[in-house]
Amino acid sequence: MERSSVDVVVVGAGPAGLLVTSRIKSLEVIVFEEHSKVGLPKHCAGIVGYETAIMIERETSPKVIDHRYNRLVFIAPNCRVDLVFKRDIAFHVNRPLLEEIMALKVESLGHKIVFNNKAYPYSLKRVLVSGGLLEYKYLVVADGARSVFRERLIGDKPKYLVGLQICAKVRNLDEKTLYVFYNNLVPEFFAWIIPLGDEALIGVASLESSRAYRVLQYTQKYLDIPVASVYEKFGGLIPLYNPLRNPVLGDCVVFHGDSVPLTKPYTGGGLHYIFKLSPVLARLLEENRLRDYSALYKRIFYFKNSLERVLVNYLRRLNAYYLPTKIVNWLYSLGLLQEGDFDNQYRIFLKSLGVTPVLTVFAFLDIFKTLHNVFNESINSSRYLARDVNSNI
Ligand SMILES: Cc1cc2nc3c(=O)[nH]c(=O)nc-3n(C[C@H](O)[C@H](O)[C@H](O)COP(=O)(O)OP(=O)(O)OC[C@H]3O[C@@H](n4cnc5c(N)ncnc54)[C@H](O)[C@@H]3O)c2cc1C
Repeated sequence: MERSSVDVVVVGAGPAGLLVTSRIKSLEVIVFEEHSKVGLPKHCAGIVGYETAIMIERETSPKVIDHRYNRLVFIAPNCRVDLVFKRDIAFHVNRPLLEEIMALKVESLGHKIVFNNKAYPYSLKRVLVSGGLLEYKYLVVADGARSVFRERLIGDKPKYLVGLQICAKVRNLDEKTLYVFYNNLVPEFFAWIIPLGDEALIGVASLESSRAYRVLQYTQKYLDIPVASVYEKFGGLIPLYNPLRNPVLGDCVVFHGDSVPLTKPYTGGGLHYIFKLSPVLARLLEENRLRDYSALYKRIFYFKNSLERVLVNYLRRLNAYYLPTKIVNWLYSLGLLQEGDFDNQYRIFLKSLGVTPVLTVFAFLDIFKTLHNVFNESINSSRYLARDVNSNI
C-alpha cells in the first residue's frame, strides 16, 4: 500500500459500510472488503417493512424492491392467523442488486473499495491491512455479525442465532403472502416462506444449526418440494448480543450495522436501522462531530431497541415466541395495526398496553376457543375410538 493515512477507513462493504460511505462527500474514504465482490457471503432473506422499503428506494433504485406482499399468515402449533391488508406491508429486497448499486455510488464519489483485503484492529488509531498499517481520522466498523473488531476492541463474547435458507422452485404459493411458522423444535425463533414468483425462499433460525436443519427439512416435506427443485442453500448469523450502549469509541471509532448490532430483536432484520442511521452518521463524520452521534443513536435506536429486546427475551424465556402473533391479530381486528408498525415493533407493544382491557377480552375469547377445540377434538377422537372398537367386535 502506497499510503499511510486516510480520513476515513470503513471495514466491510455490506449495506452498513457502503451506505455510510455513499453519503460522505467531503472526506476521503477507503473501504476494505475481505471478499472478491460486494454481496458475499449471501445470507439475508431481504424482507423489510414499509418505511424501510421507501428509504431503500430513495437511496438506491425502485428496482431493488422486487416483490411486495399484502398478506401475512402466521402458523403456530395452537393458532393460525391470517392478516390481509389493503396496501402492501412487506417488501422483498434484491440484496445483490442493492449492494451493487451502493458500490457504484461509492466509487462514483471517488472513494475506493479494496477487495480481497481483510482488515484487523491494530490500535485505536490504526488498522492492519495487507500492505501494512493504515492511520485514519475515523474508523467505521461495519464488519457484520461476526465482528472481529467488536470482539477485539470491546472484548464482547458474541452470541448468535444460526439462519439457514434454501431457494427452490415451488408451486401453489400465493405470491402476495408471507408465511411465518412457529415450531416447537425452534422455540427461540421462527421459520419463513417467502414466495418469489415461481420460486420461494424458505428459511429458519435457531440457536443450534442441527435443529434449524430439521425444521427446514420438515418445511420442505410439508410443501412437497423435491430435492431436485432446491437450487441454492445458504446461511448466516443473526447477532443476539446486546447492542452497544455507546457505539463511539475514543472519538475516532464507530460501530455500525450488525457489529453493533442494529438488528430488530424479534425478526433479526438489520436493514431498517442501517438505512435510518447511516445518513446521520455520515453527516456527523463530515462535520467532525462524531461525539454527537451517541446521543442521536440513543434517541433513534437504542431506547426503542432495548424495550423490544427486554420483551423478546421474556418471550424466549416463556417459550412463547408465537404470542405477538395473537396480539397483532387482536390489534388488526380493532383496526389499530398500521404499515409502519412492522418497522417499529415497540409500537405494537405500546398499542397493546393502550388497549389492555379490550385485549384481555380477546385473550379470554381465545382461551375459550382453544379449550372448546380441545374439548371437541377429544369428543371426536372418542367417537372414532368407539367406532373402531365397535367395528372390531
Ligand atoms: C438468515 C438471515 C436472514 C436475514 N433476513 C433479513 C431480513 O429479512 N431483513 C433484514 O432487514 N435483515 C435481515 N437479515 C440481517 C441483515 O442481513 C443484516 O442486518 C445486514 O446484512 C447487516 O449489514 P452489515 O453491513 O452490518 O453486515 P454484512 O452484511 O454482514 O456485511 C459485512 C461485510 O464486511 C465484510 N467483512 C467482515 N469482516 C471483515 C474484515 N475484517 N475485513 C474486511 N471485510 C470484512 C464481510 O465480507 C461483509 O461483506 C438477515 C440475516 C440473516 C443471517
